[in-house]
Formats: sequence, C-alpha cells, structure tokens
Amino acid sequence: MGNFDLLKVKGISRRDFMKVIAATTAALGLPELIVPQVANAAEQALKKPPVIWLEGMDCTGCTESAISTLNPSPAELILDMLSIRYHETIMAGSGYTSEEAYHEALKEKFVLVVEGSSPGTKEQDRFCMIGGRPFREILIESAQKAQVILAIGSCASEGAGIPGACASGAVGVAELLRNEGIDKPVINLPCCPVKPTTLIGTILYYLTYQKAPELDSQNRPVAFYGSLLHDNCPRRGHFENGNYLTDWNDPLQKEYCLILKGCKGPKTYTDCAQVWWNDNANFCINAGSPCSGCSEKEFYNGFSPLYSKQEMFKLPGIGQVDADTVGTVIGGAAAIGLGAHLIATAASGRLSNKDHKEDM
Ligand code: SF4
Repeated sequence: MGNFDLLKVKGISRRDFMKVIAATTAALGLPELIVPQVANAAEQALKKPPVIWLEGMDCTGCTESAISTLNPSPAELILDMLSIRYHETIMAGSGYTSEEAYHEALKEKFVLVVEGSSPGTKEQDRFCMIGGRPFREILIESAQKAQVILAIGSCASEGAGIPGACASGAVGVAELLRNEGIDKPVINLPCCPVKPTTLIGTILYYLTYQKAPELDSQNRPVAFYGSLLHDNCPRRGHFENGNYLTDWNDPLQKEYCLILKGCKGPKTYTDCAQVWWNDNANFCINAGSPCSGCSEKEFYNGFSPLYSKQEMFKLPGIGQVDADTVGTVIGGAAAIGLGAHLIATAASGRLSNKDHKEDM
C-alpha cells in the first residue's frame, strides 16, 4: 500500500497532509522551497521509525495536548506515521503485552519521547514505578539505546516542572542522564503542556535532516523558543503606556498588562503569542491569565508564586526596576528629558535577547 493510500484509509487527504506540512515548515522558519522535502521525509516516516513514549511523573497533559487537536489531526497524522510502539495512555495493550511491545521496540532504531520527570536517585525510585520497575531505570535503559531523545513538557525538560517543585526529588531527562554519566543529547520541548506544533515540527525537522534543529542554551529549538513572549504580547501597548491590571473585577482593566499579577512574559522565551493553543483558539495571556513562564527552567519553583509580581526586571538605559515602580520609572525617564531614542527603547521595554539571557 502506498503512503498516501495509507493516509486515505485514515481519512486524511493529500491536501490536508500538505497543509500540515506547509504550516509546520513555516513555523520552523524553513523556506517554502523545502516543503516537498519535508513532505517526502514525512512520507518515508510512514514506513516508519518506531517511537517509545514514556510517561514518568506527569499529569498526562502533554499526551492530551498532542492528541486533542482538531481534524485533520496533525497529531494523528504524525504519530501514526511514527508508529508509536509503546505509550501507556493510548496503547490498546496492557500488562505483559505492553511490556513485550516495549522490549521489541528497544531492538530497533527508535525515537524516545519522554513526558514527565524522573526520580533523581535510587532512593527516590518509589515515587514512580512502571510495571513493578523504577521509571528511572526504564528511562536510562531506553535513553541509552534511542536514536534521538525528545523531552516534552516542562516536567521532562530542564527544571522538572511541577514535580520538580515537590519533595520527590524529580529531575528532567537531561539532568538524570548527566548525573548518571550518560552522554546523550536531549532536545527539550518545554511548556506545560507541550504545544503539538512544537512536537510535530521538531520531529519533522529531525526526519528531514536526520539531526536536531538549531538549539538554544537550554537545548530548546530556536524556531519555537527563540522569541521573547513580552515582545509579541497583545497587551504590550498597555505595558508601554503604564496601564497595569490591579483589579481583576474592573472591566476597564480587562485588557491591561498583567505584570503586577505576576506575568513572566519579560523572562519567557516561547512562541505562545504567535502560535496559540488548541488549533489557535487561545493562549494564557489572551485568556486573561499572566504567563507563568512554563517554557523556562525556572518554572515552577523559581517563578512561584505564579500570581505575584516578579521582583525585578531590567530596562535598557534604565537598569533594574521592580514591578511596583515600573510605571513611575518609565514616566520619570520621559520627564527628565532622556533623548527620544532612549525613551522609545526604555519605555517599550524591548529587551534584547542578550539582555534577557544575562538577566536570568
Ligand atoms: Fe504581556 Fe506580560 Fe509583557 Fe504585560 S508583562 S506586556 S502581559 S508579556
């Protein structure tokens, strides 16, 4: 059966298939010219690299996120293509049958997707056991044999997300492997949960080029984590004008900047403002919630409490300010007659990536 015949059986037309490929290619910032190449890689994938998808200490939110997109489901498209051999939540088999599937997949060249964090030490193994075995051991075993490792969601990435804030000694995949002396690169795809476009885009890139996309200092693909949320926020105009929400119940403040309510947008690198969740239905800030910085390794502990203002941040030309005085500082800078260019830069708060990296 040809690859597109297979898509037809799954109720996916070639047009829909190409639409997903083109959108994903654009999201990765790749030239339109290579759409056929990406499509070809995806078609080849139908033949198909097996995936082992492990779930450690997690809430299954990343799985939900990946499988809950609308039709034609990119998740179904890509995940079916990838032949998920083992996934505790969605696989039909259970018990010994699923264990057998896992061990069979281990013998092949497989992609390892890890959702959730792992206990960091043998002593903490009791916090996460799968089929009677410590999750930590299963993760080490599969990571050593994997062709490529994707740590998806905040819990599996650096910082270990919400479990990392608990007493379970949870660590992300890369940290566990480092601690065990295992030298295997891990691509981190944080966010709580992972965005399907990020997961699919990274897998497609890997299938096309047989290597990881360009990564930043936290091993996140620059294509998805290269821009500062604050720079693309729909409430940015209010930030610049000093309109900060202080009262949730005041309808006049509904669209105001959320920095006094703990927004971590000025410290968070993510494409959330450009690529919304649930098939572009919405994203946190647009829905009225401050950004909790879930794509950063400081999430959760380093950014909590989430709904309290961040202590300090840096404005170029002005330096460190705290959220309480940001409006005064920006207004004051104008009043004392800073040059027009400096005011524009400072008041806009357009912090360069470099400034922010130094700041964090
Ligand atoms: Fe948007 Fe948050 Fe920046 Fe305000 S602080 S402009 S809400 S990202």
